[in-house]
Amino acid sequence: MGVYRAEYIWIDGTKPTAKLRSKGKVINDGEAPPIWGFDGSSTQQAPGANSDCVLKPVFVCPDPIRGGNNKLVMCEVLLTDMTPHPTNTRAACAAAAKTYAAHDTWFGIEQEYTFFKGSRPLGFPDNGFPPAQGGYYCGVGADEVFGRDVVEAHLDACLKAGLKIAGINAEVMPGQWEFQVGPVAPPDVADQLWIARWLLYRVGENFGVSATLYPKPVKGDWNGAGAHTNFSTREMRQSYDACVAAAEALKKRHDLHIQNYGFGIEERLTGLHETASWREFSYGVSDRGASVRIPWQVAKDRKGYIEDRRPNANMDPYTVTRLIVETVCGSASARKAGTKAAAKKPTPIRKKAKRAA
Ligand code: ADP
Ligand code: MN
Ligand code: MN
Ligand code: MN
Repeated sequence: MGVYRAEYIWIDGTKPTAKLRSKGKVINDGEAPPIWGFDGSSTQQAPGANSDCVLKPVFVCPDPIRGGNNKLVMCEVLLTDMTPHPTNTRAACAAAAKTYAAHDTWFGIEQEYTFFKGSRPLGFPDNGFPPAQGGYYCGVGADEVFGRDVVEAHLDACLKAGLKIAGINAEVMPGQWEFQVGPVAPPDVADQLWIARWLLYRVGENFGVSATLYPKPVKGDWNGAGAHTNFSTREMRQSYDACVAAAEALKKRHDLHIQNYGFGIEERLTGLHETASWREFSYGVSDRGASVRIPWQVAKDRKGYIEDRRPNANMDPYTVTRLIVETVCGSASARKAGTKAAAKKPTPIRKKAKRAA
């Protein structure tokens, strides 16, 4: 009987930013990846005396690294009583997605990242700095672009895995790049983003290059790395007012979102380098200096989606998509309920009036 190899991937308990872990399992052909386990005492997820954690497969795709009929298996971490582990942020994301399923929310996440060779960003000289930013974004040529072979190999791997990648581009700082996942509904979009991150690190091994999601890899006059989160509900895809209402809903819970958009966000959201200050919320059409941008095409079409520019590159997409769904869909539902209640009001008032008369 034949076998295939399944690489089980999960998110650990490292603080302040969780890391990806993975290990391989040999499974008989024809059998689905079963529930598995790992030593949580080595991943900041359990004490040594009670170390077992459970891996539950949530998203399975072809393994583009091993090829053949081998698989990548994205897992969520459970306690041995099969309830979500405290480090499991997916469960709450899946629950919110279910609660607000009628809103049919889609996310397109722009994942920025920085390649490192040793302790320096790829393309940085051993001493000092490269020429200032300006020519690197979407650049071409060996003097401006560093790591393209890795980027192409990563894109190839993501597509072979069946992930919905929207595009790639070189970023503003040398050695900095971006890929986009989506539009896809949560929690799948986040499952796919975590797999794409794992593939980025894994493909980098083959080139001796590491990738990091640090939000501000080089201090000073160099762009940070973000994860702009574009999203739309069905209502937003039909109405511009709903797009503006979504931005207004985000404004009301700015602090909560900022606290959950990735460690070190104050370092990146300075108000410079195409960011808005983390201290205050703003939105505007075409405005890359705002917290939330309404793309010009959306303003022109009077419908579409908006871009939350605040999330850091190192954000957890389960948490970010959950918060946006809860804030935006929650507010839209409340508005509808309010409108319905207001529409119903005249009836009792008329009844009262009649009785009085
Ligand atoms: P930017 O101009 O900010 O660099 P990108 O092209 O990098 O934008 O990313 C835009 C993202 O928005 C893509 O991932 C795309 O799939 C996503 N997107 C497009 N339309 C929608 C929509 N209606 N809802 C959610 N996401 C969308
Ligand atoms: Mn982009
Ligand atoms: Mn970008
Ligand atoms: Mn963007």
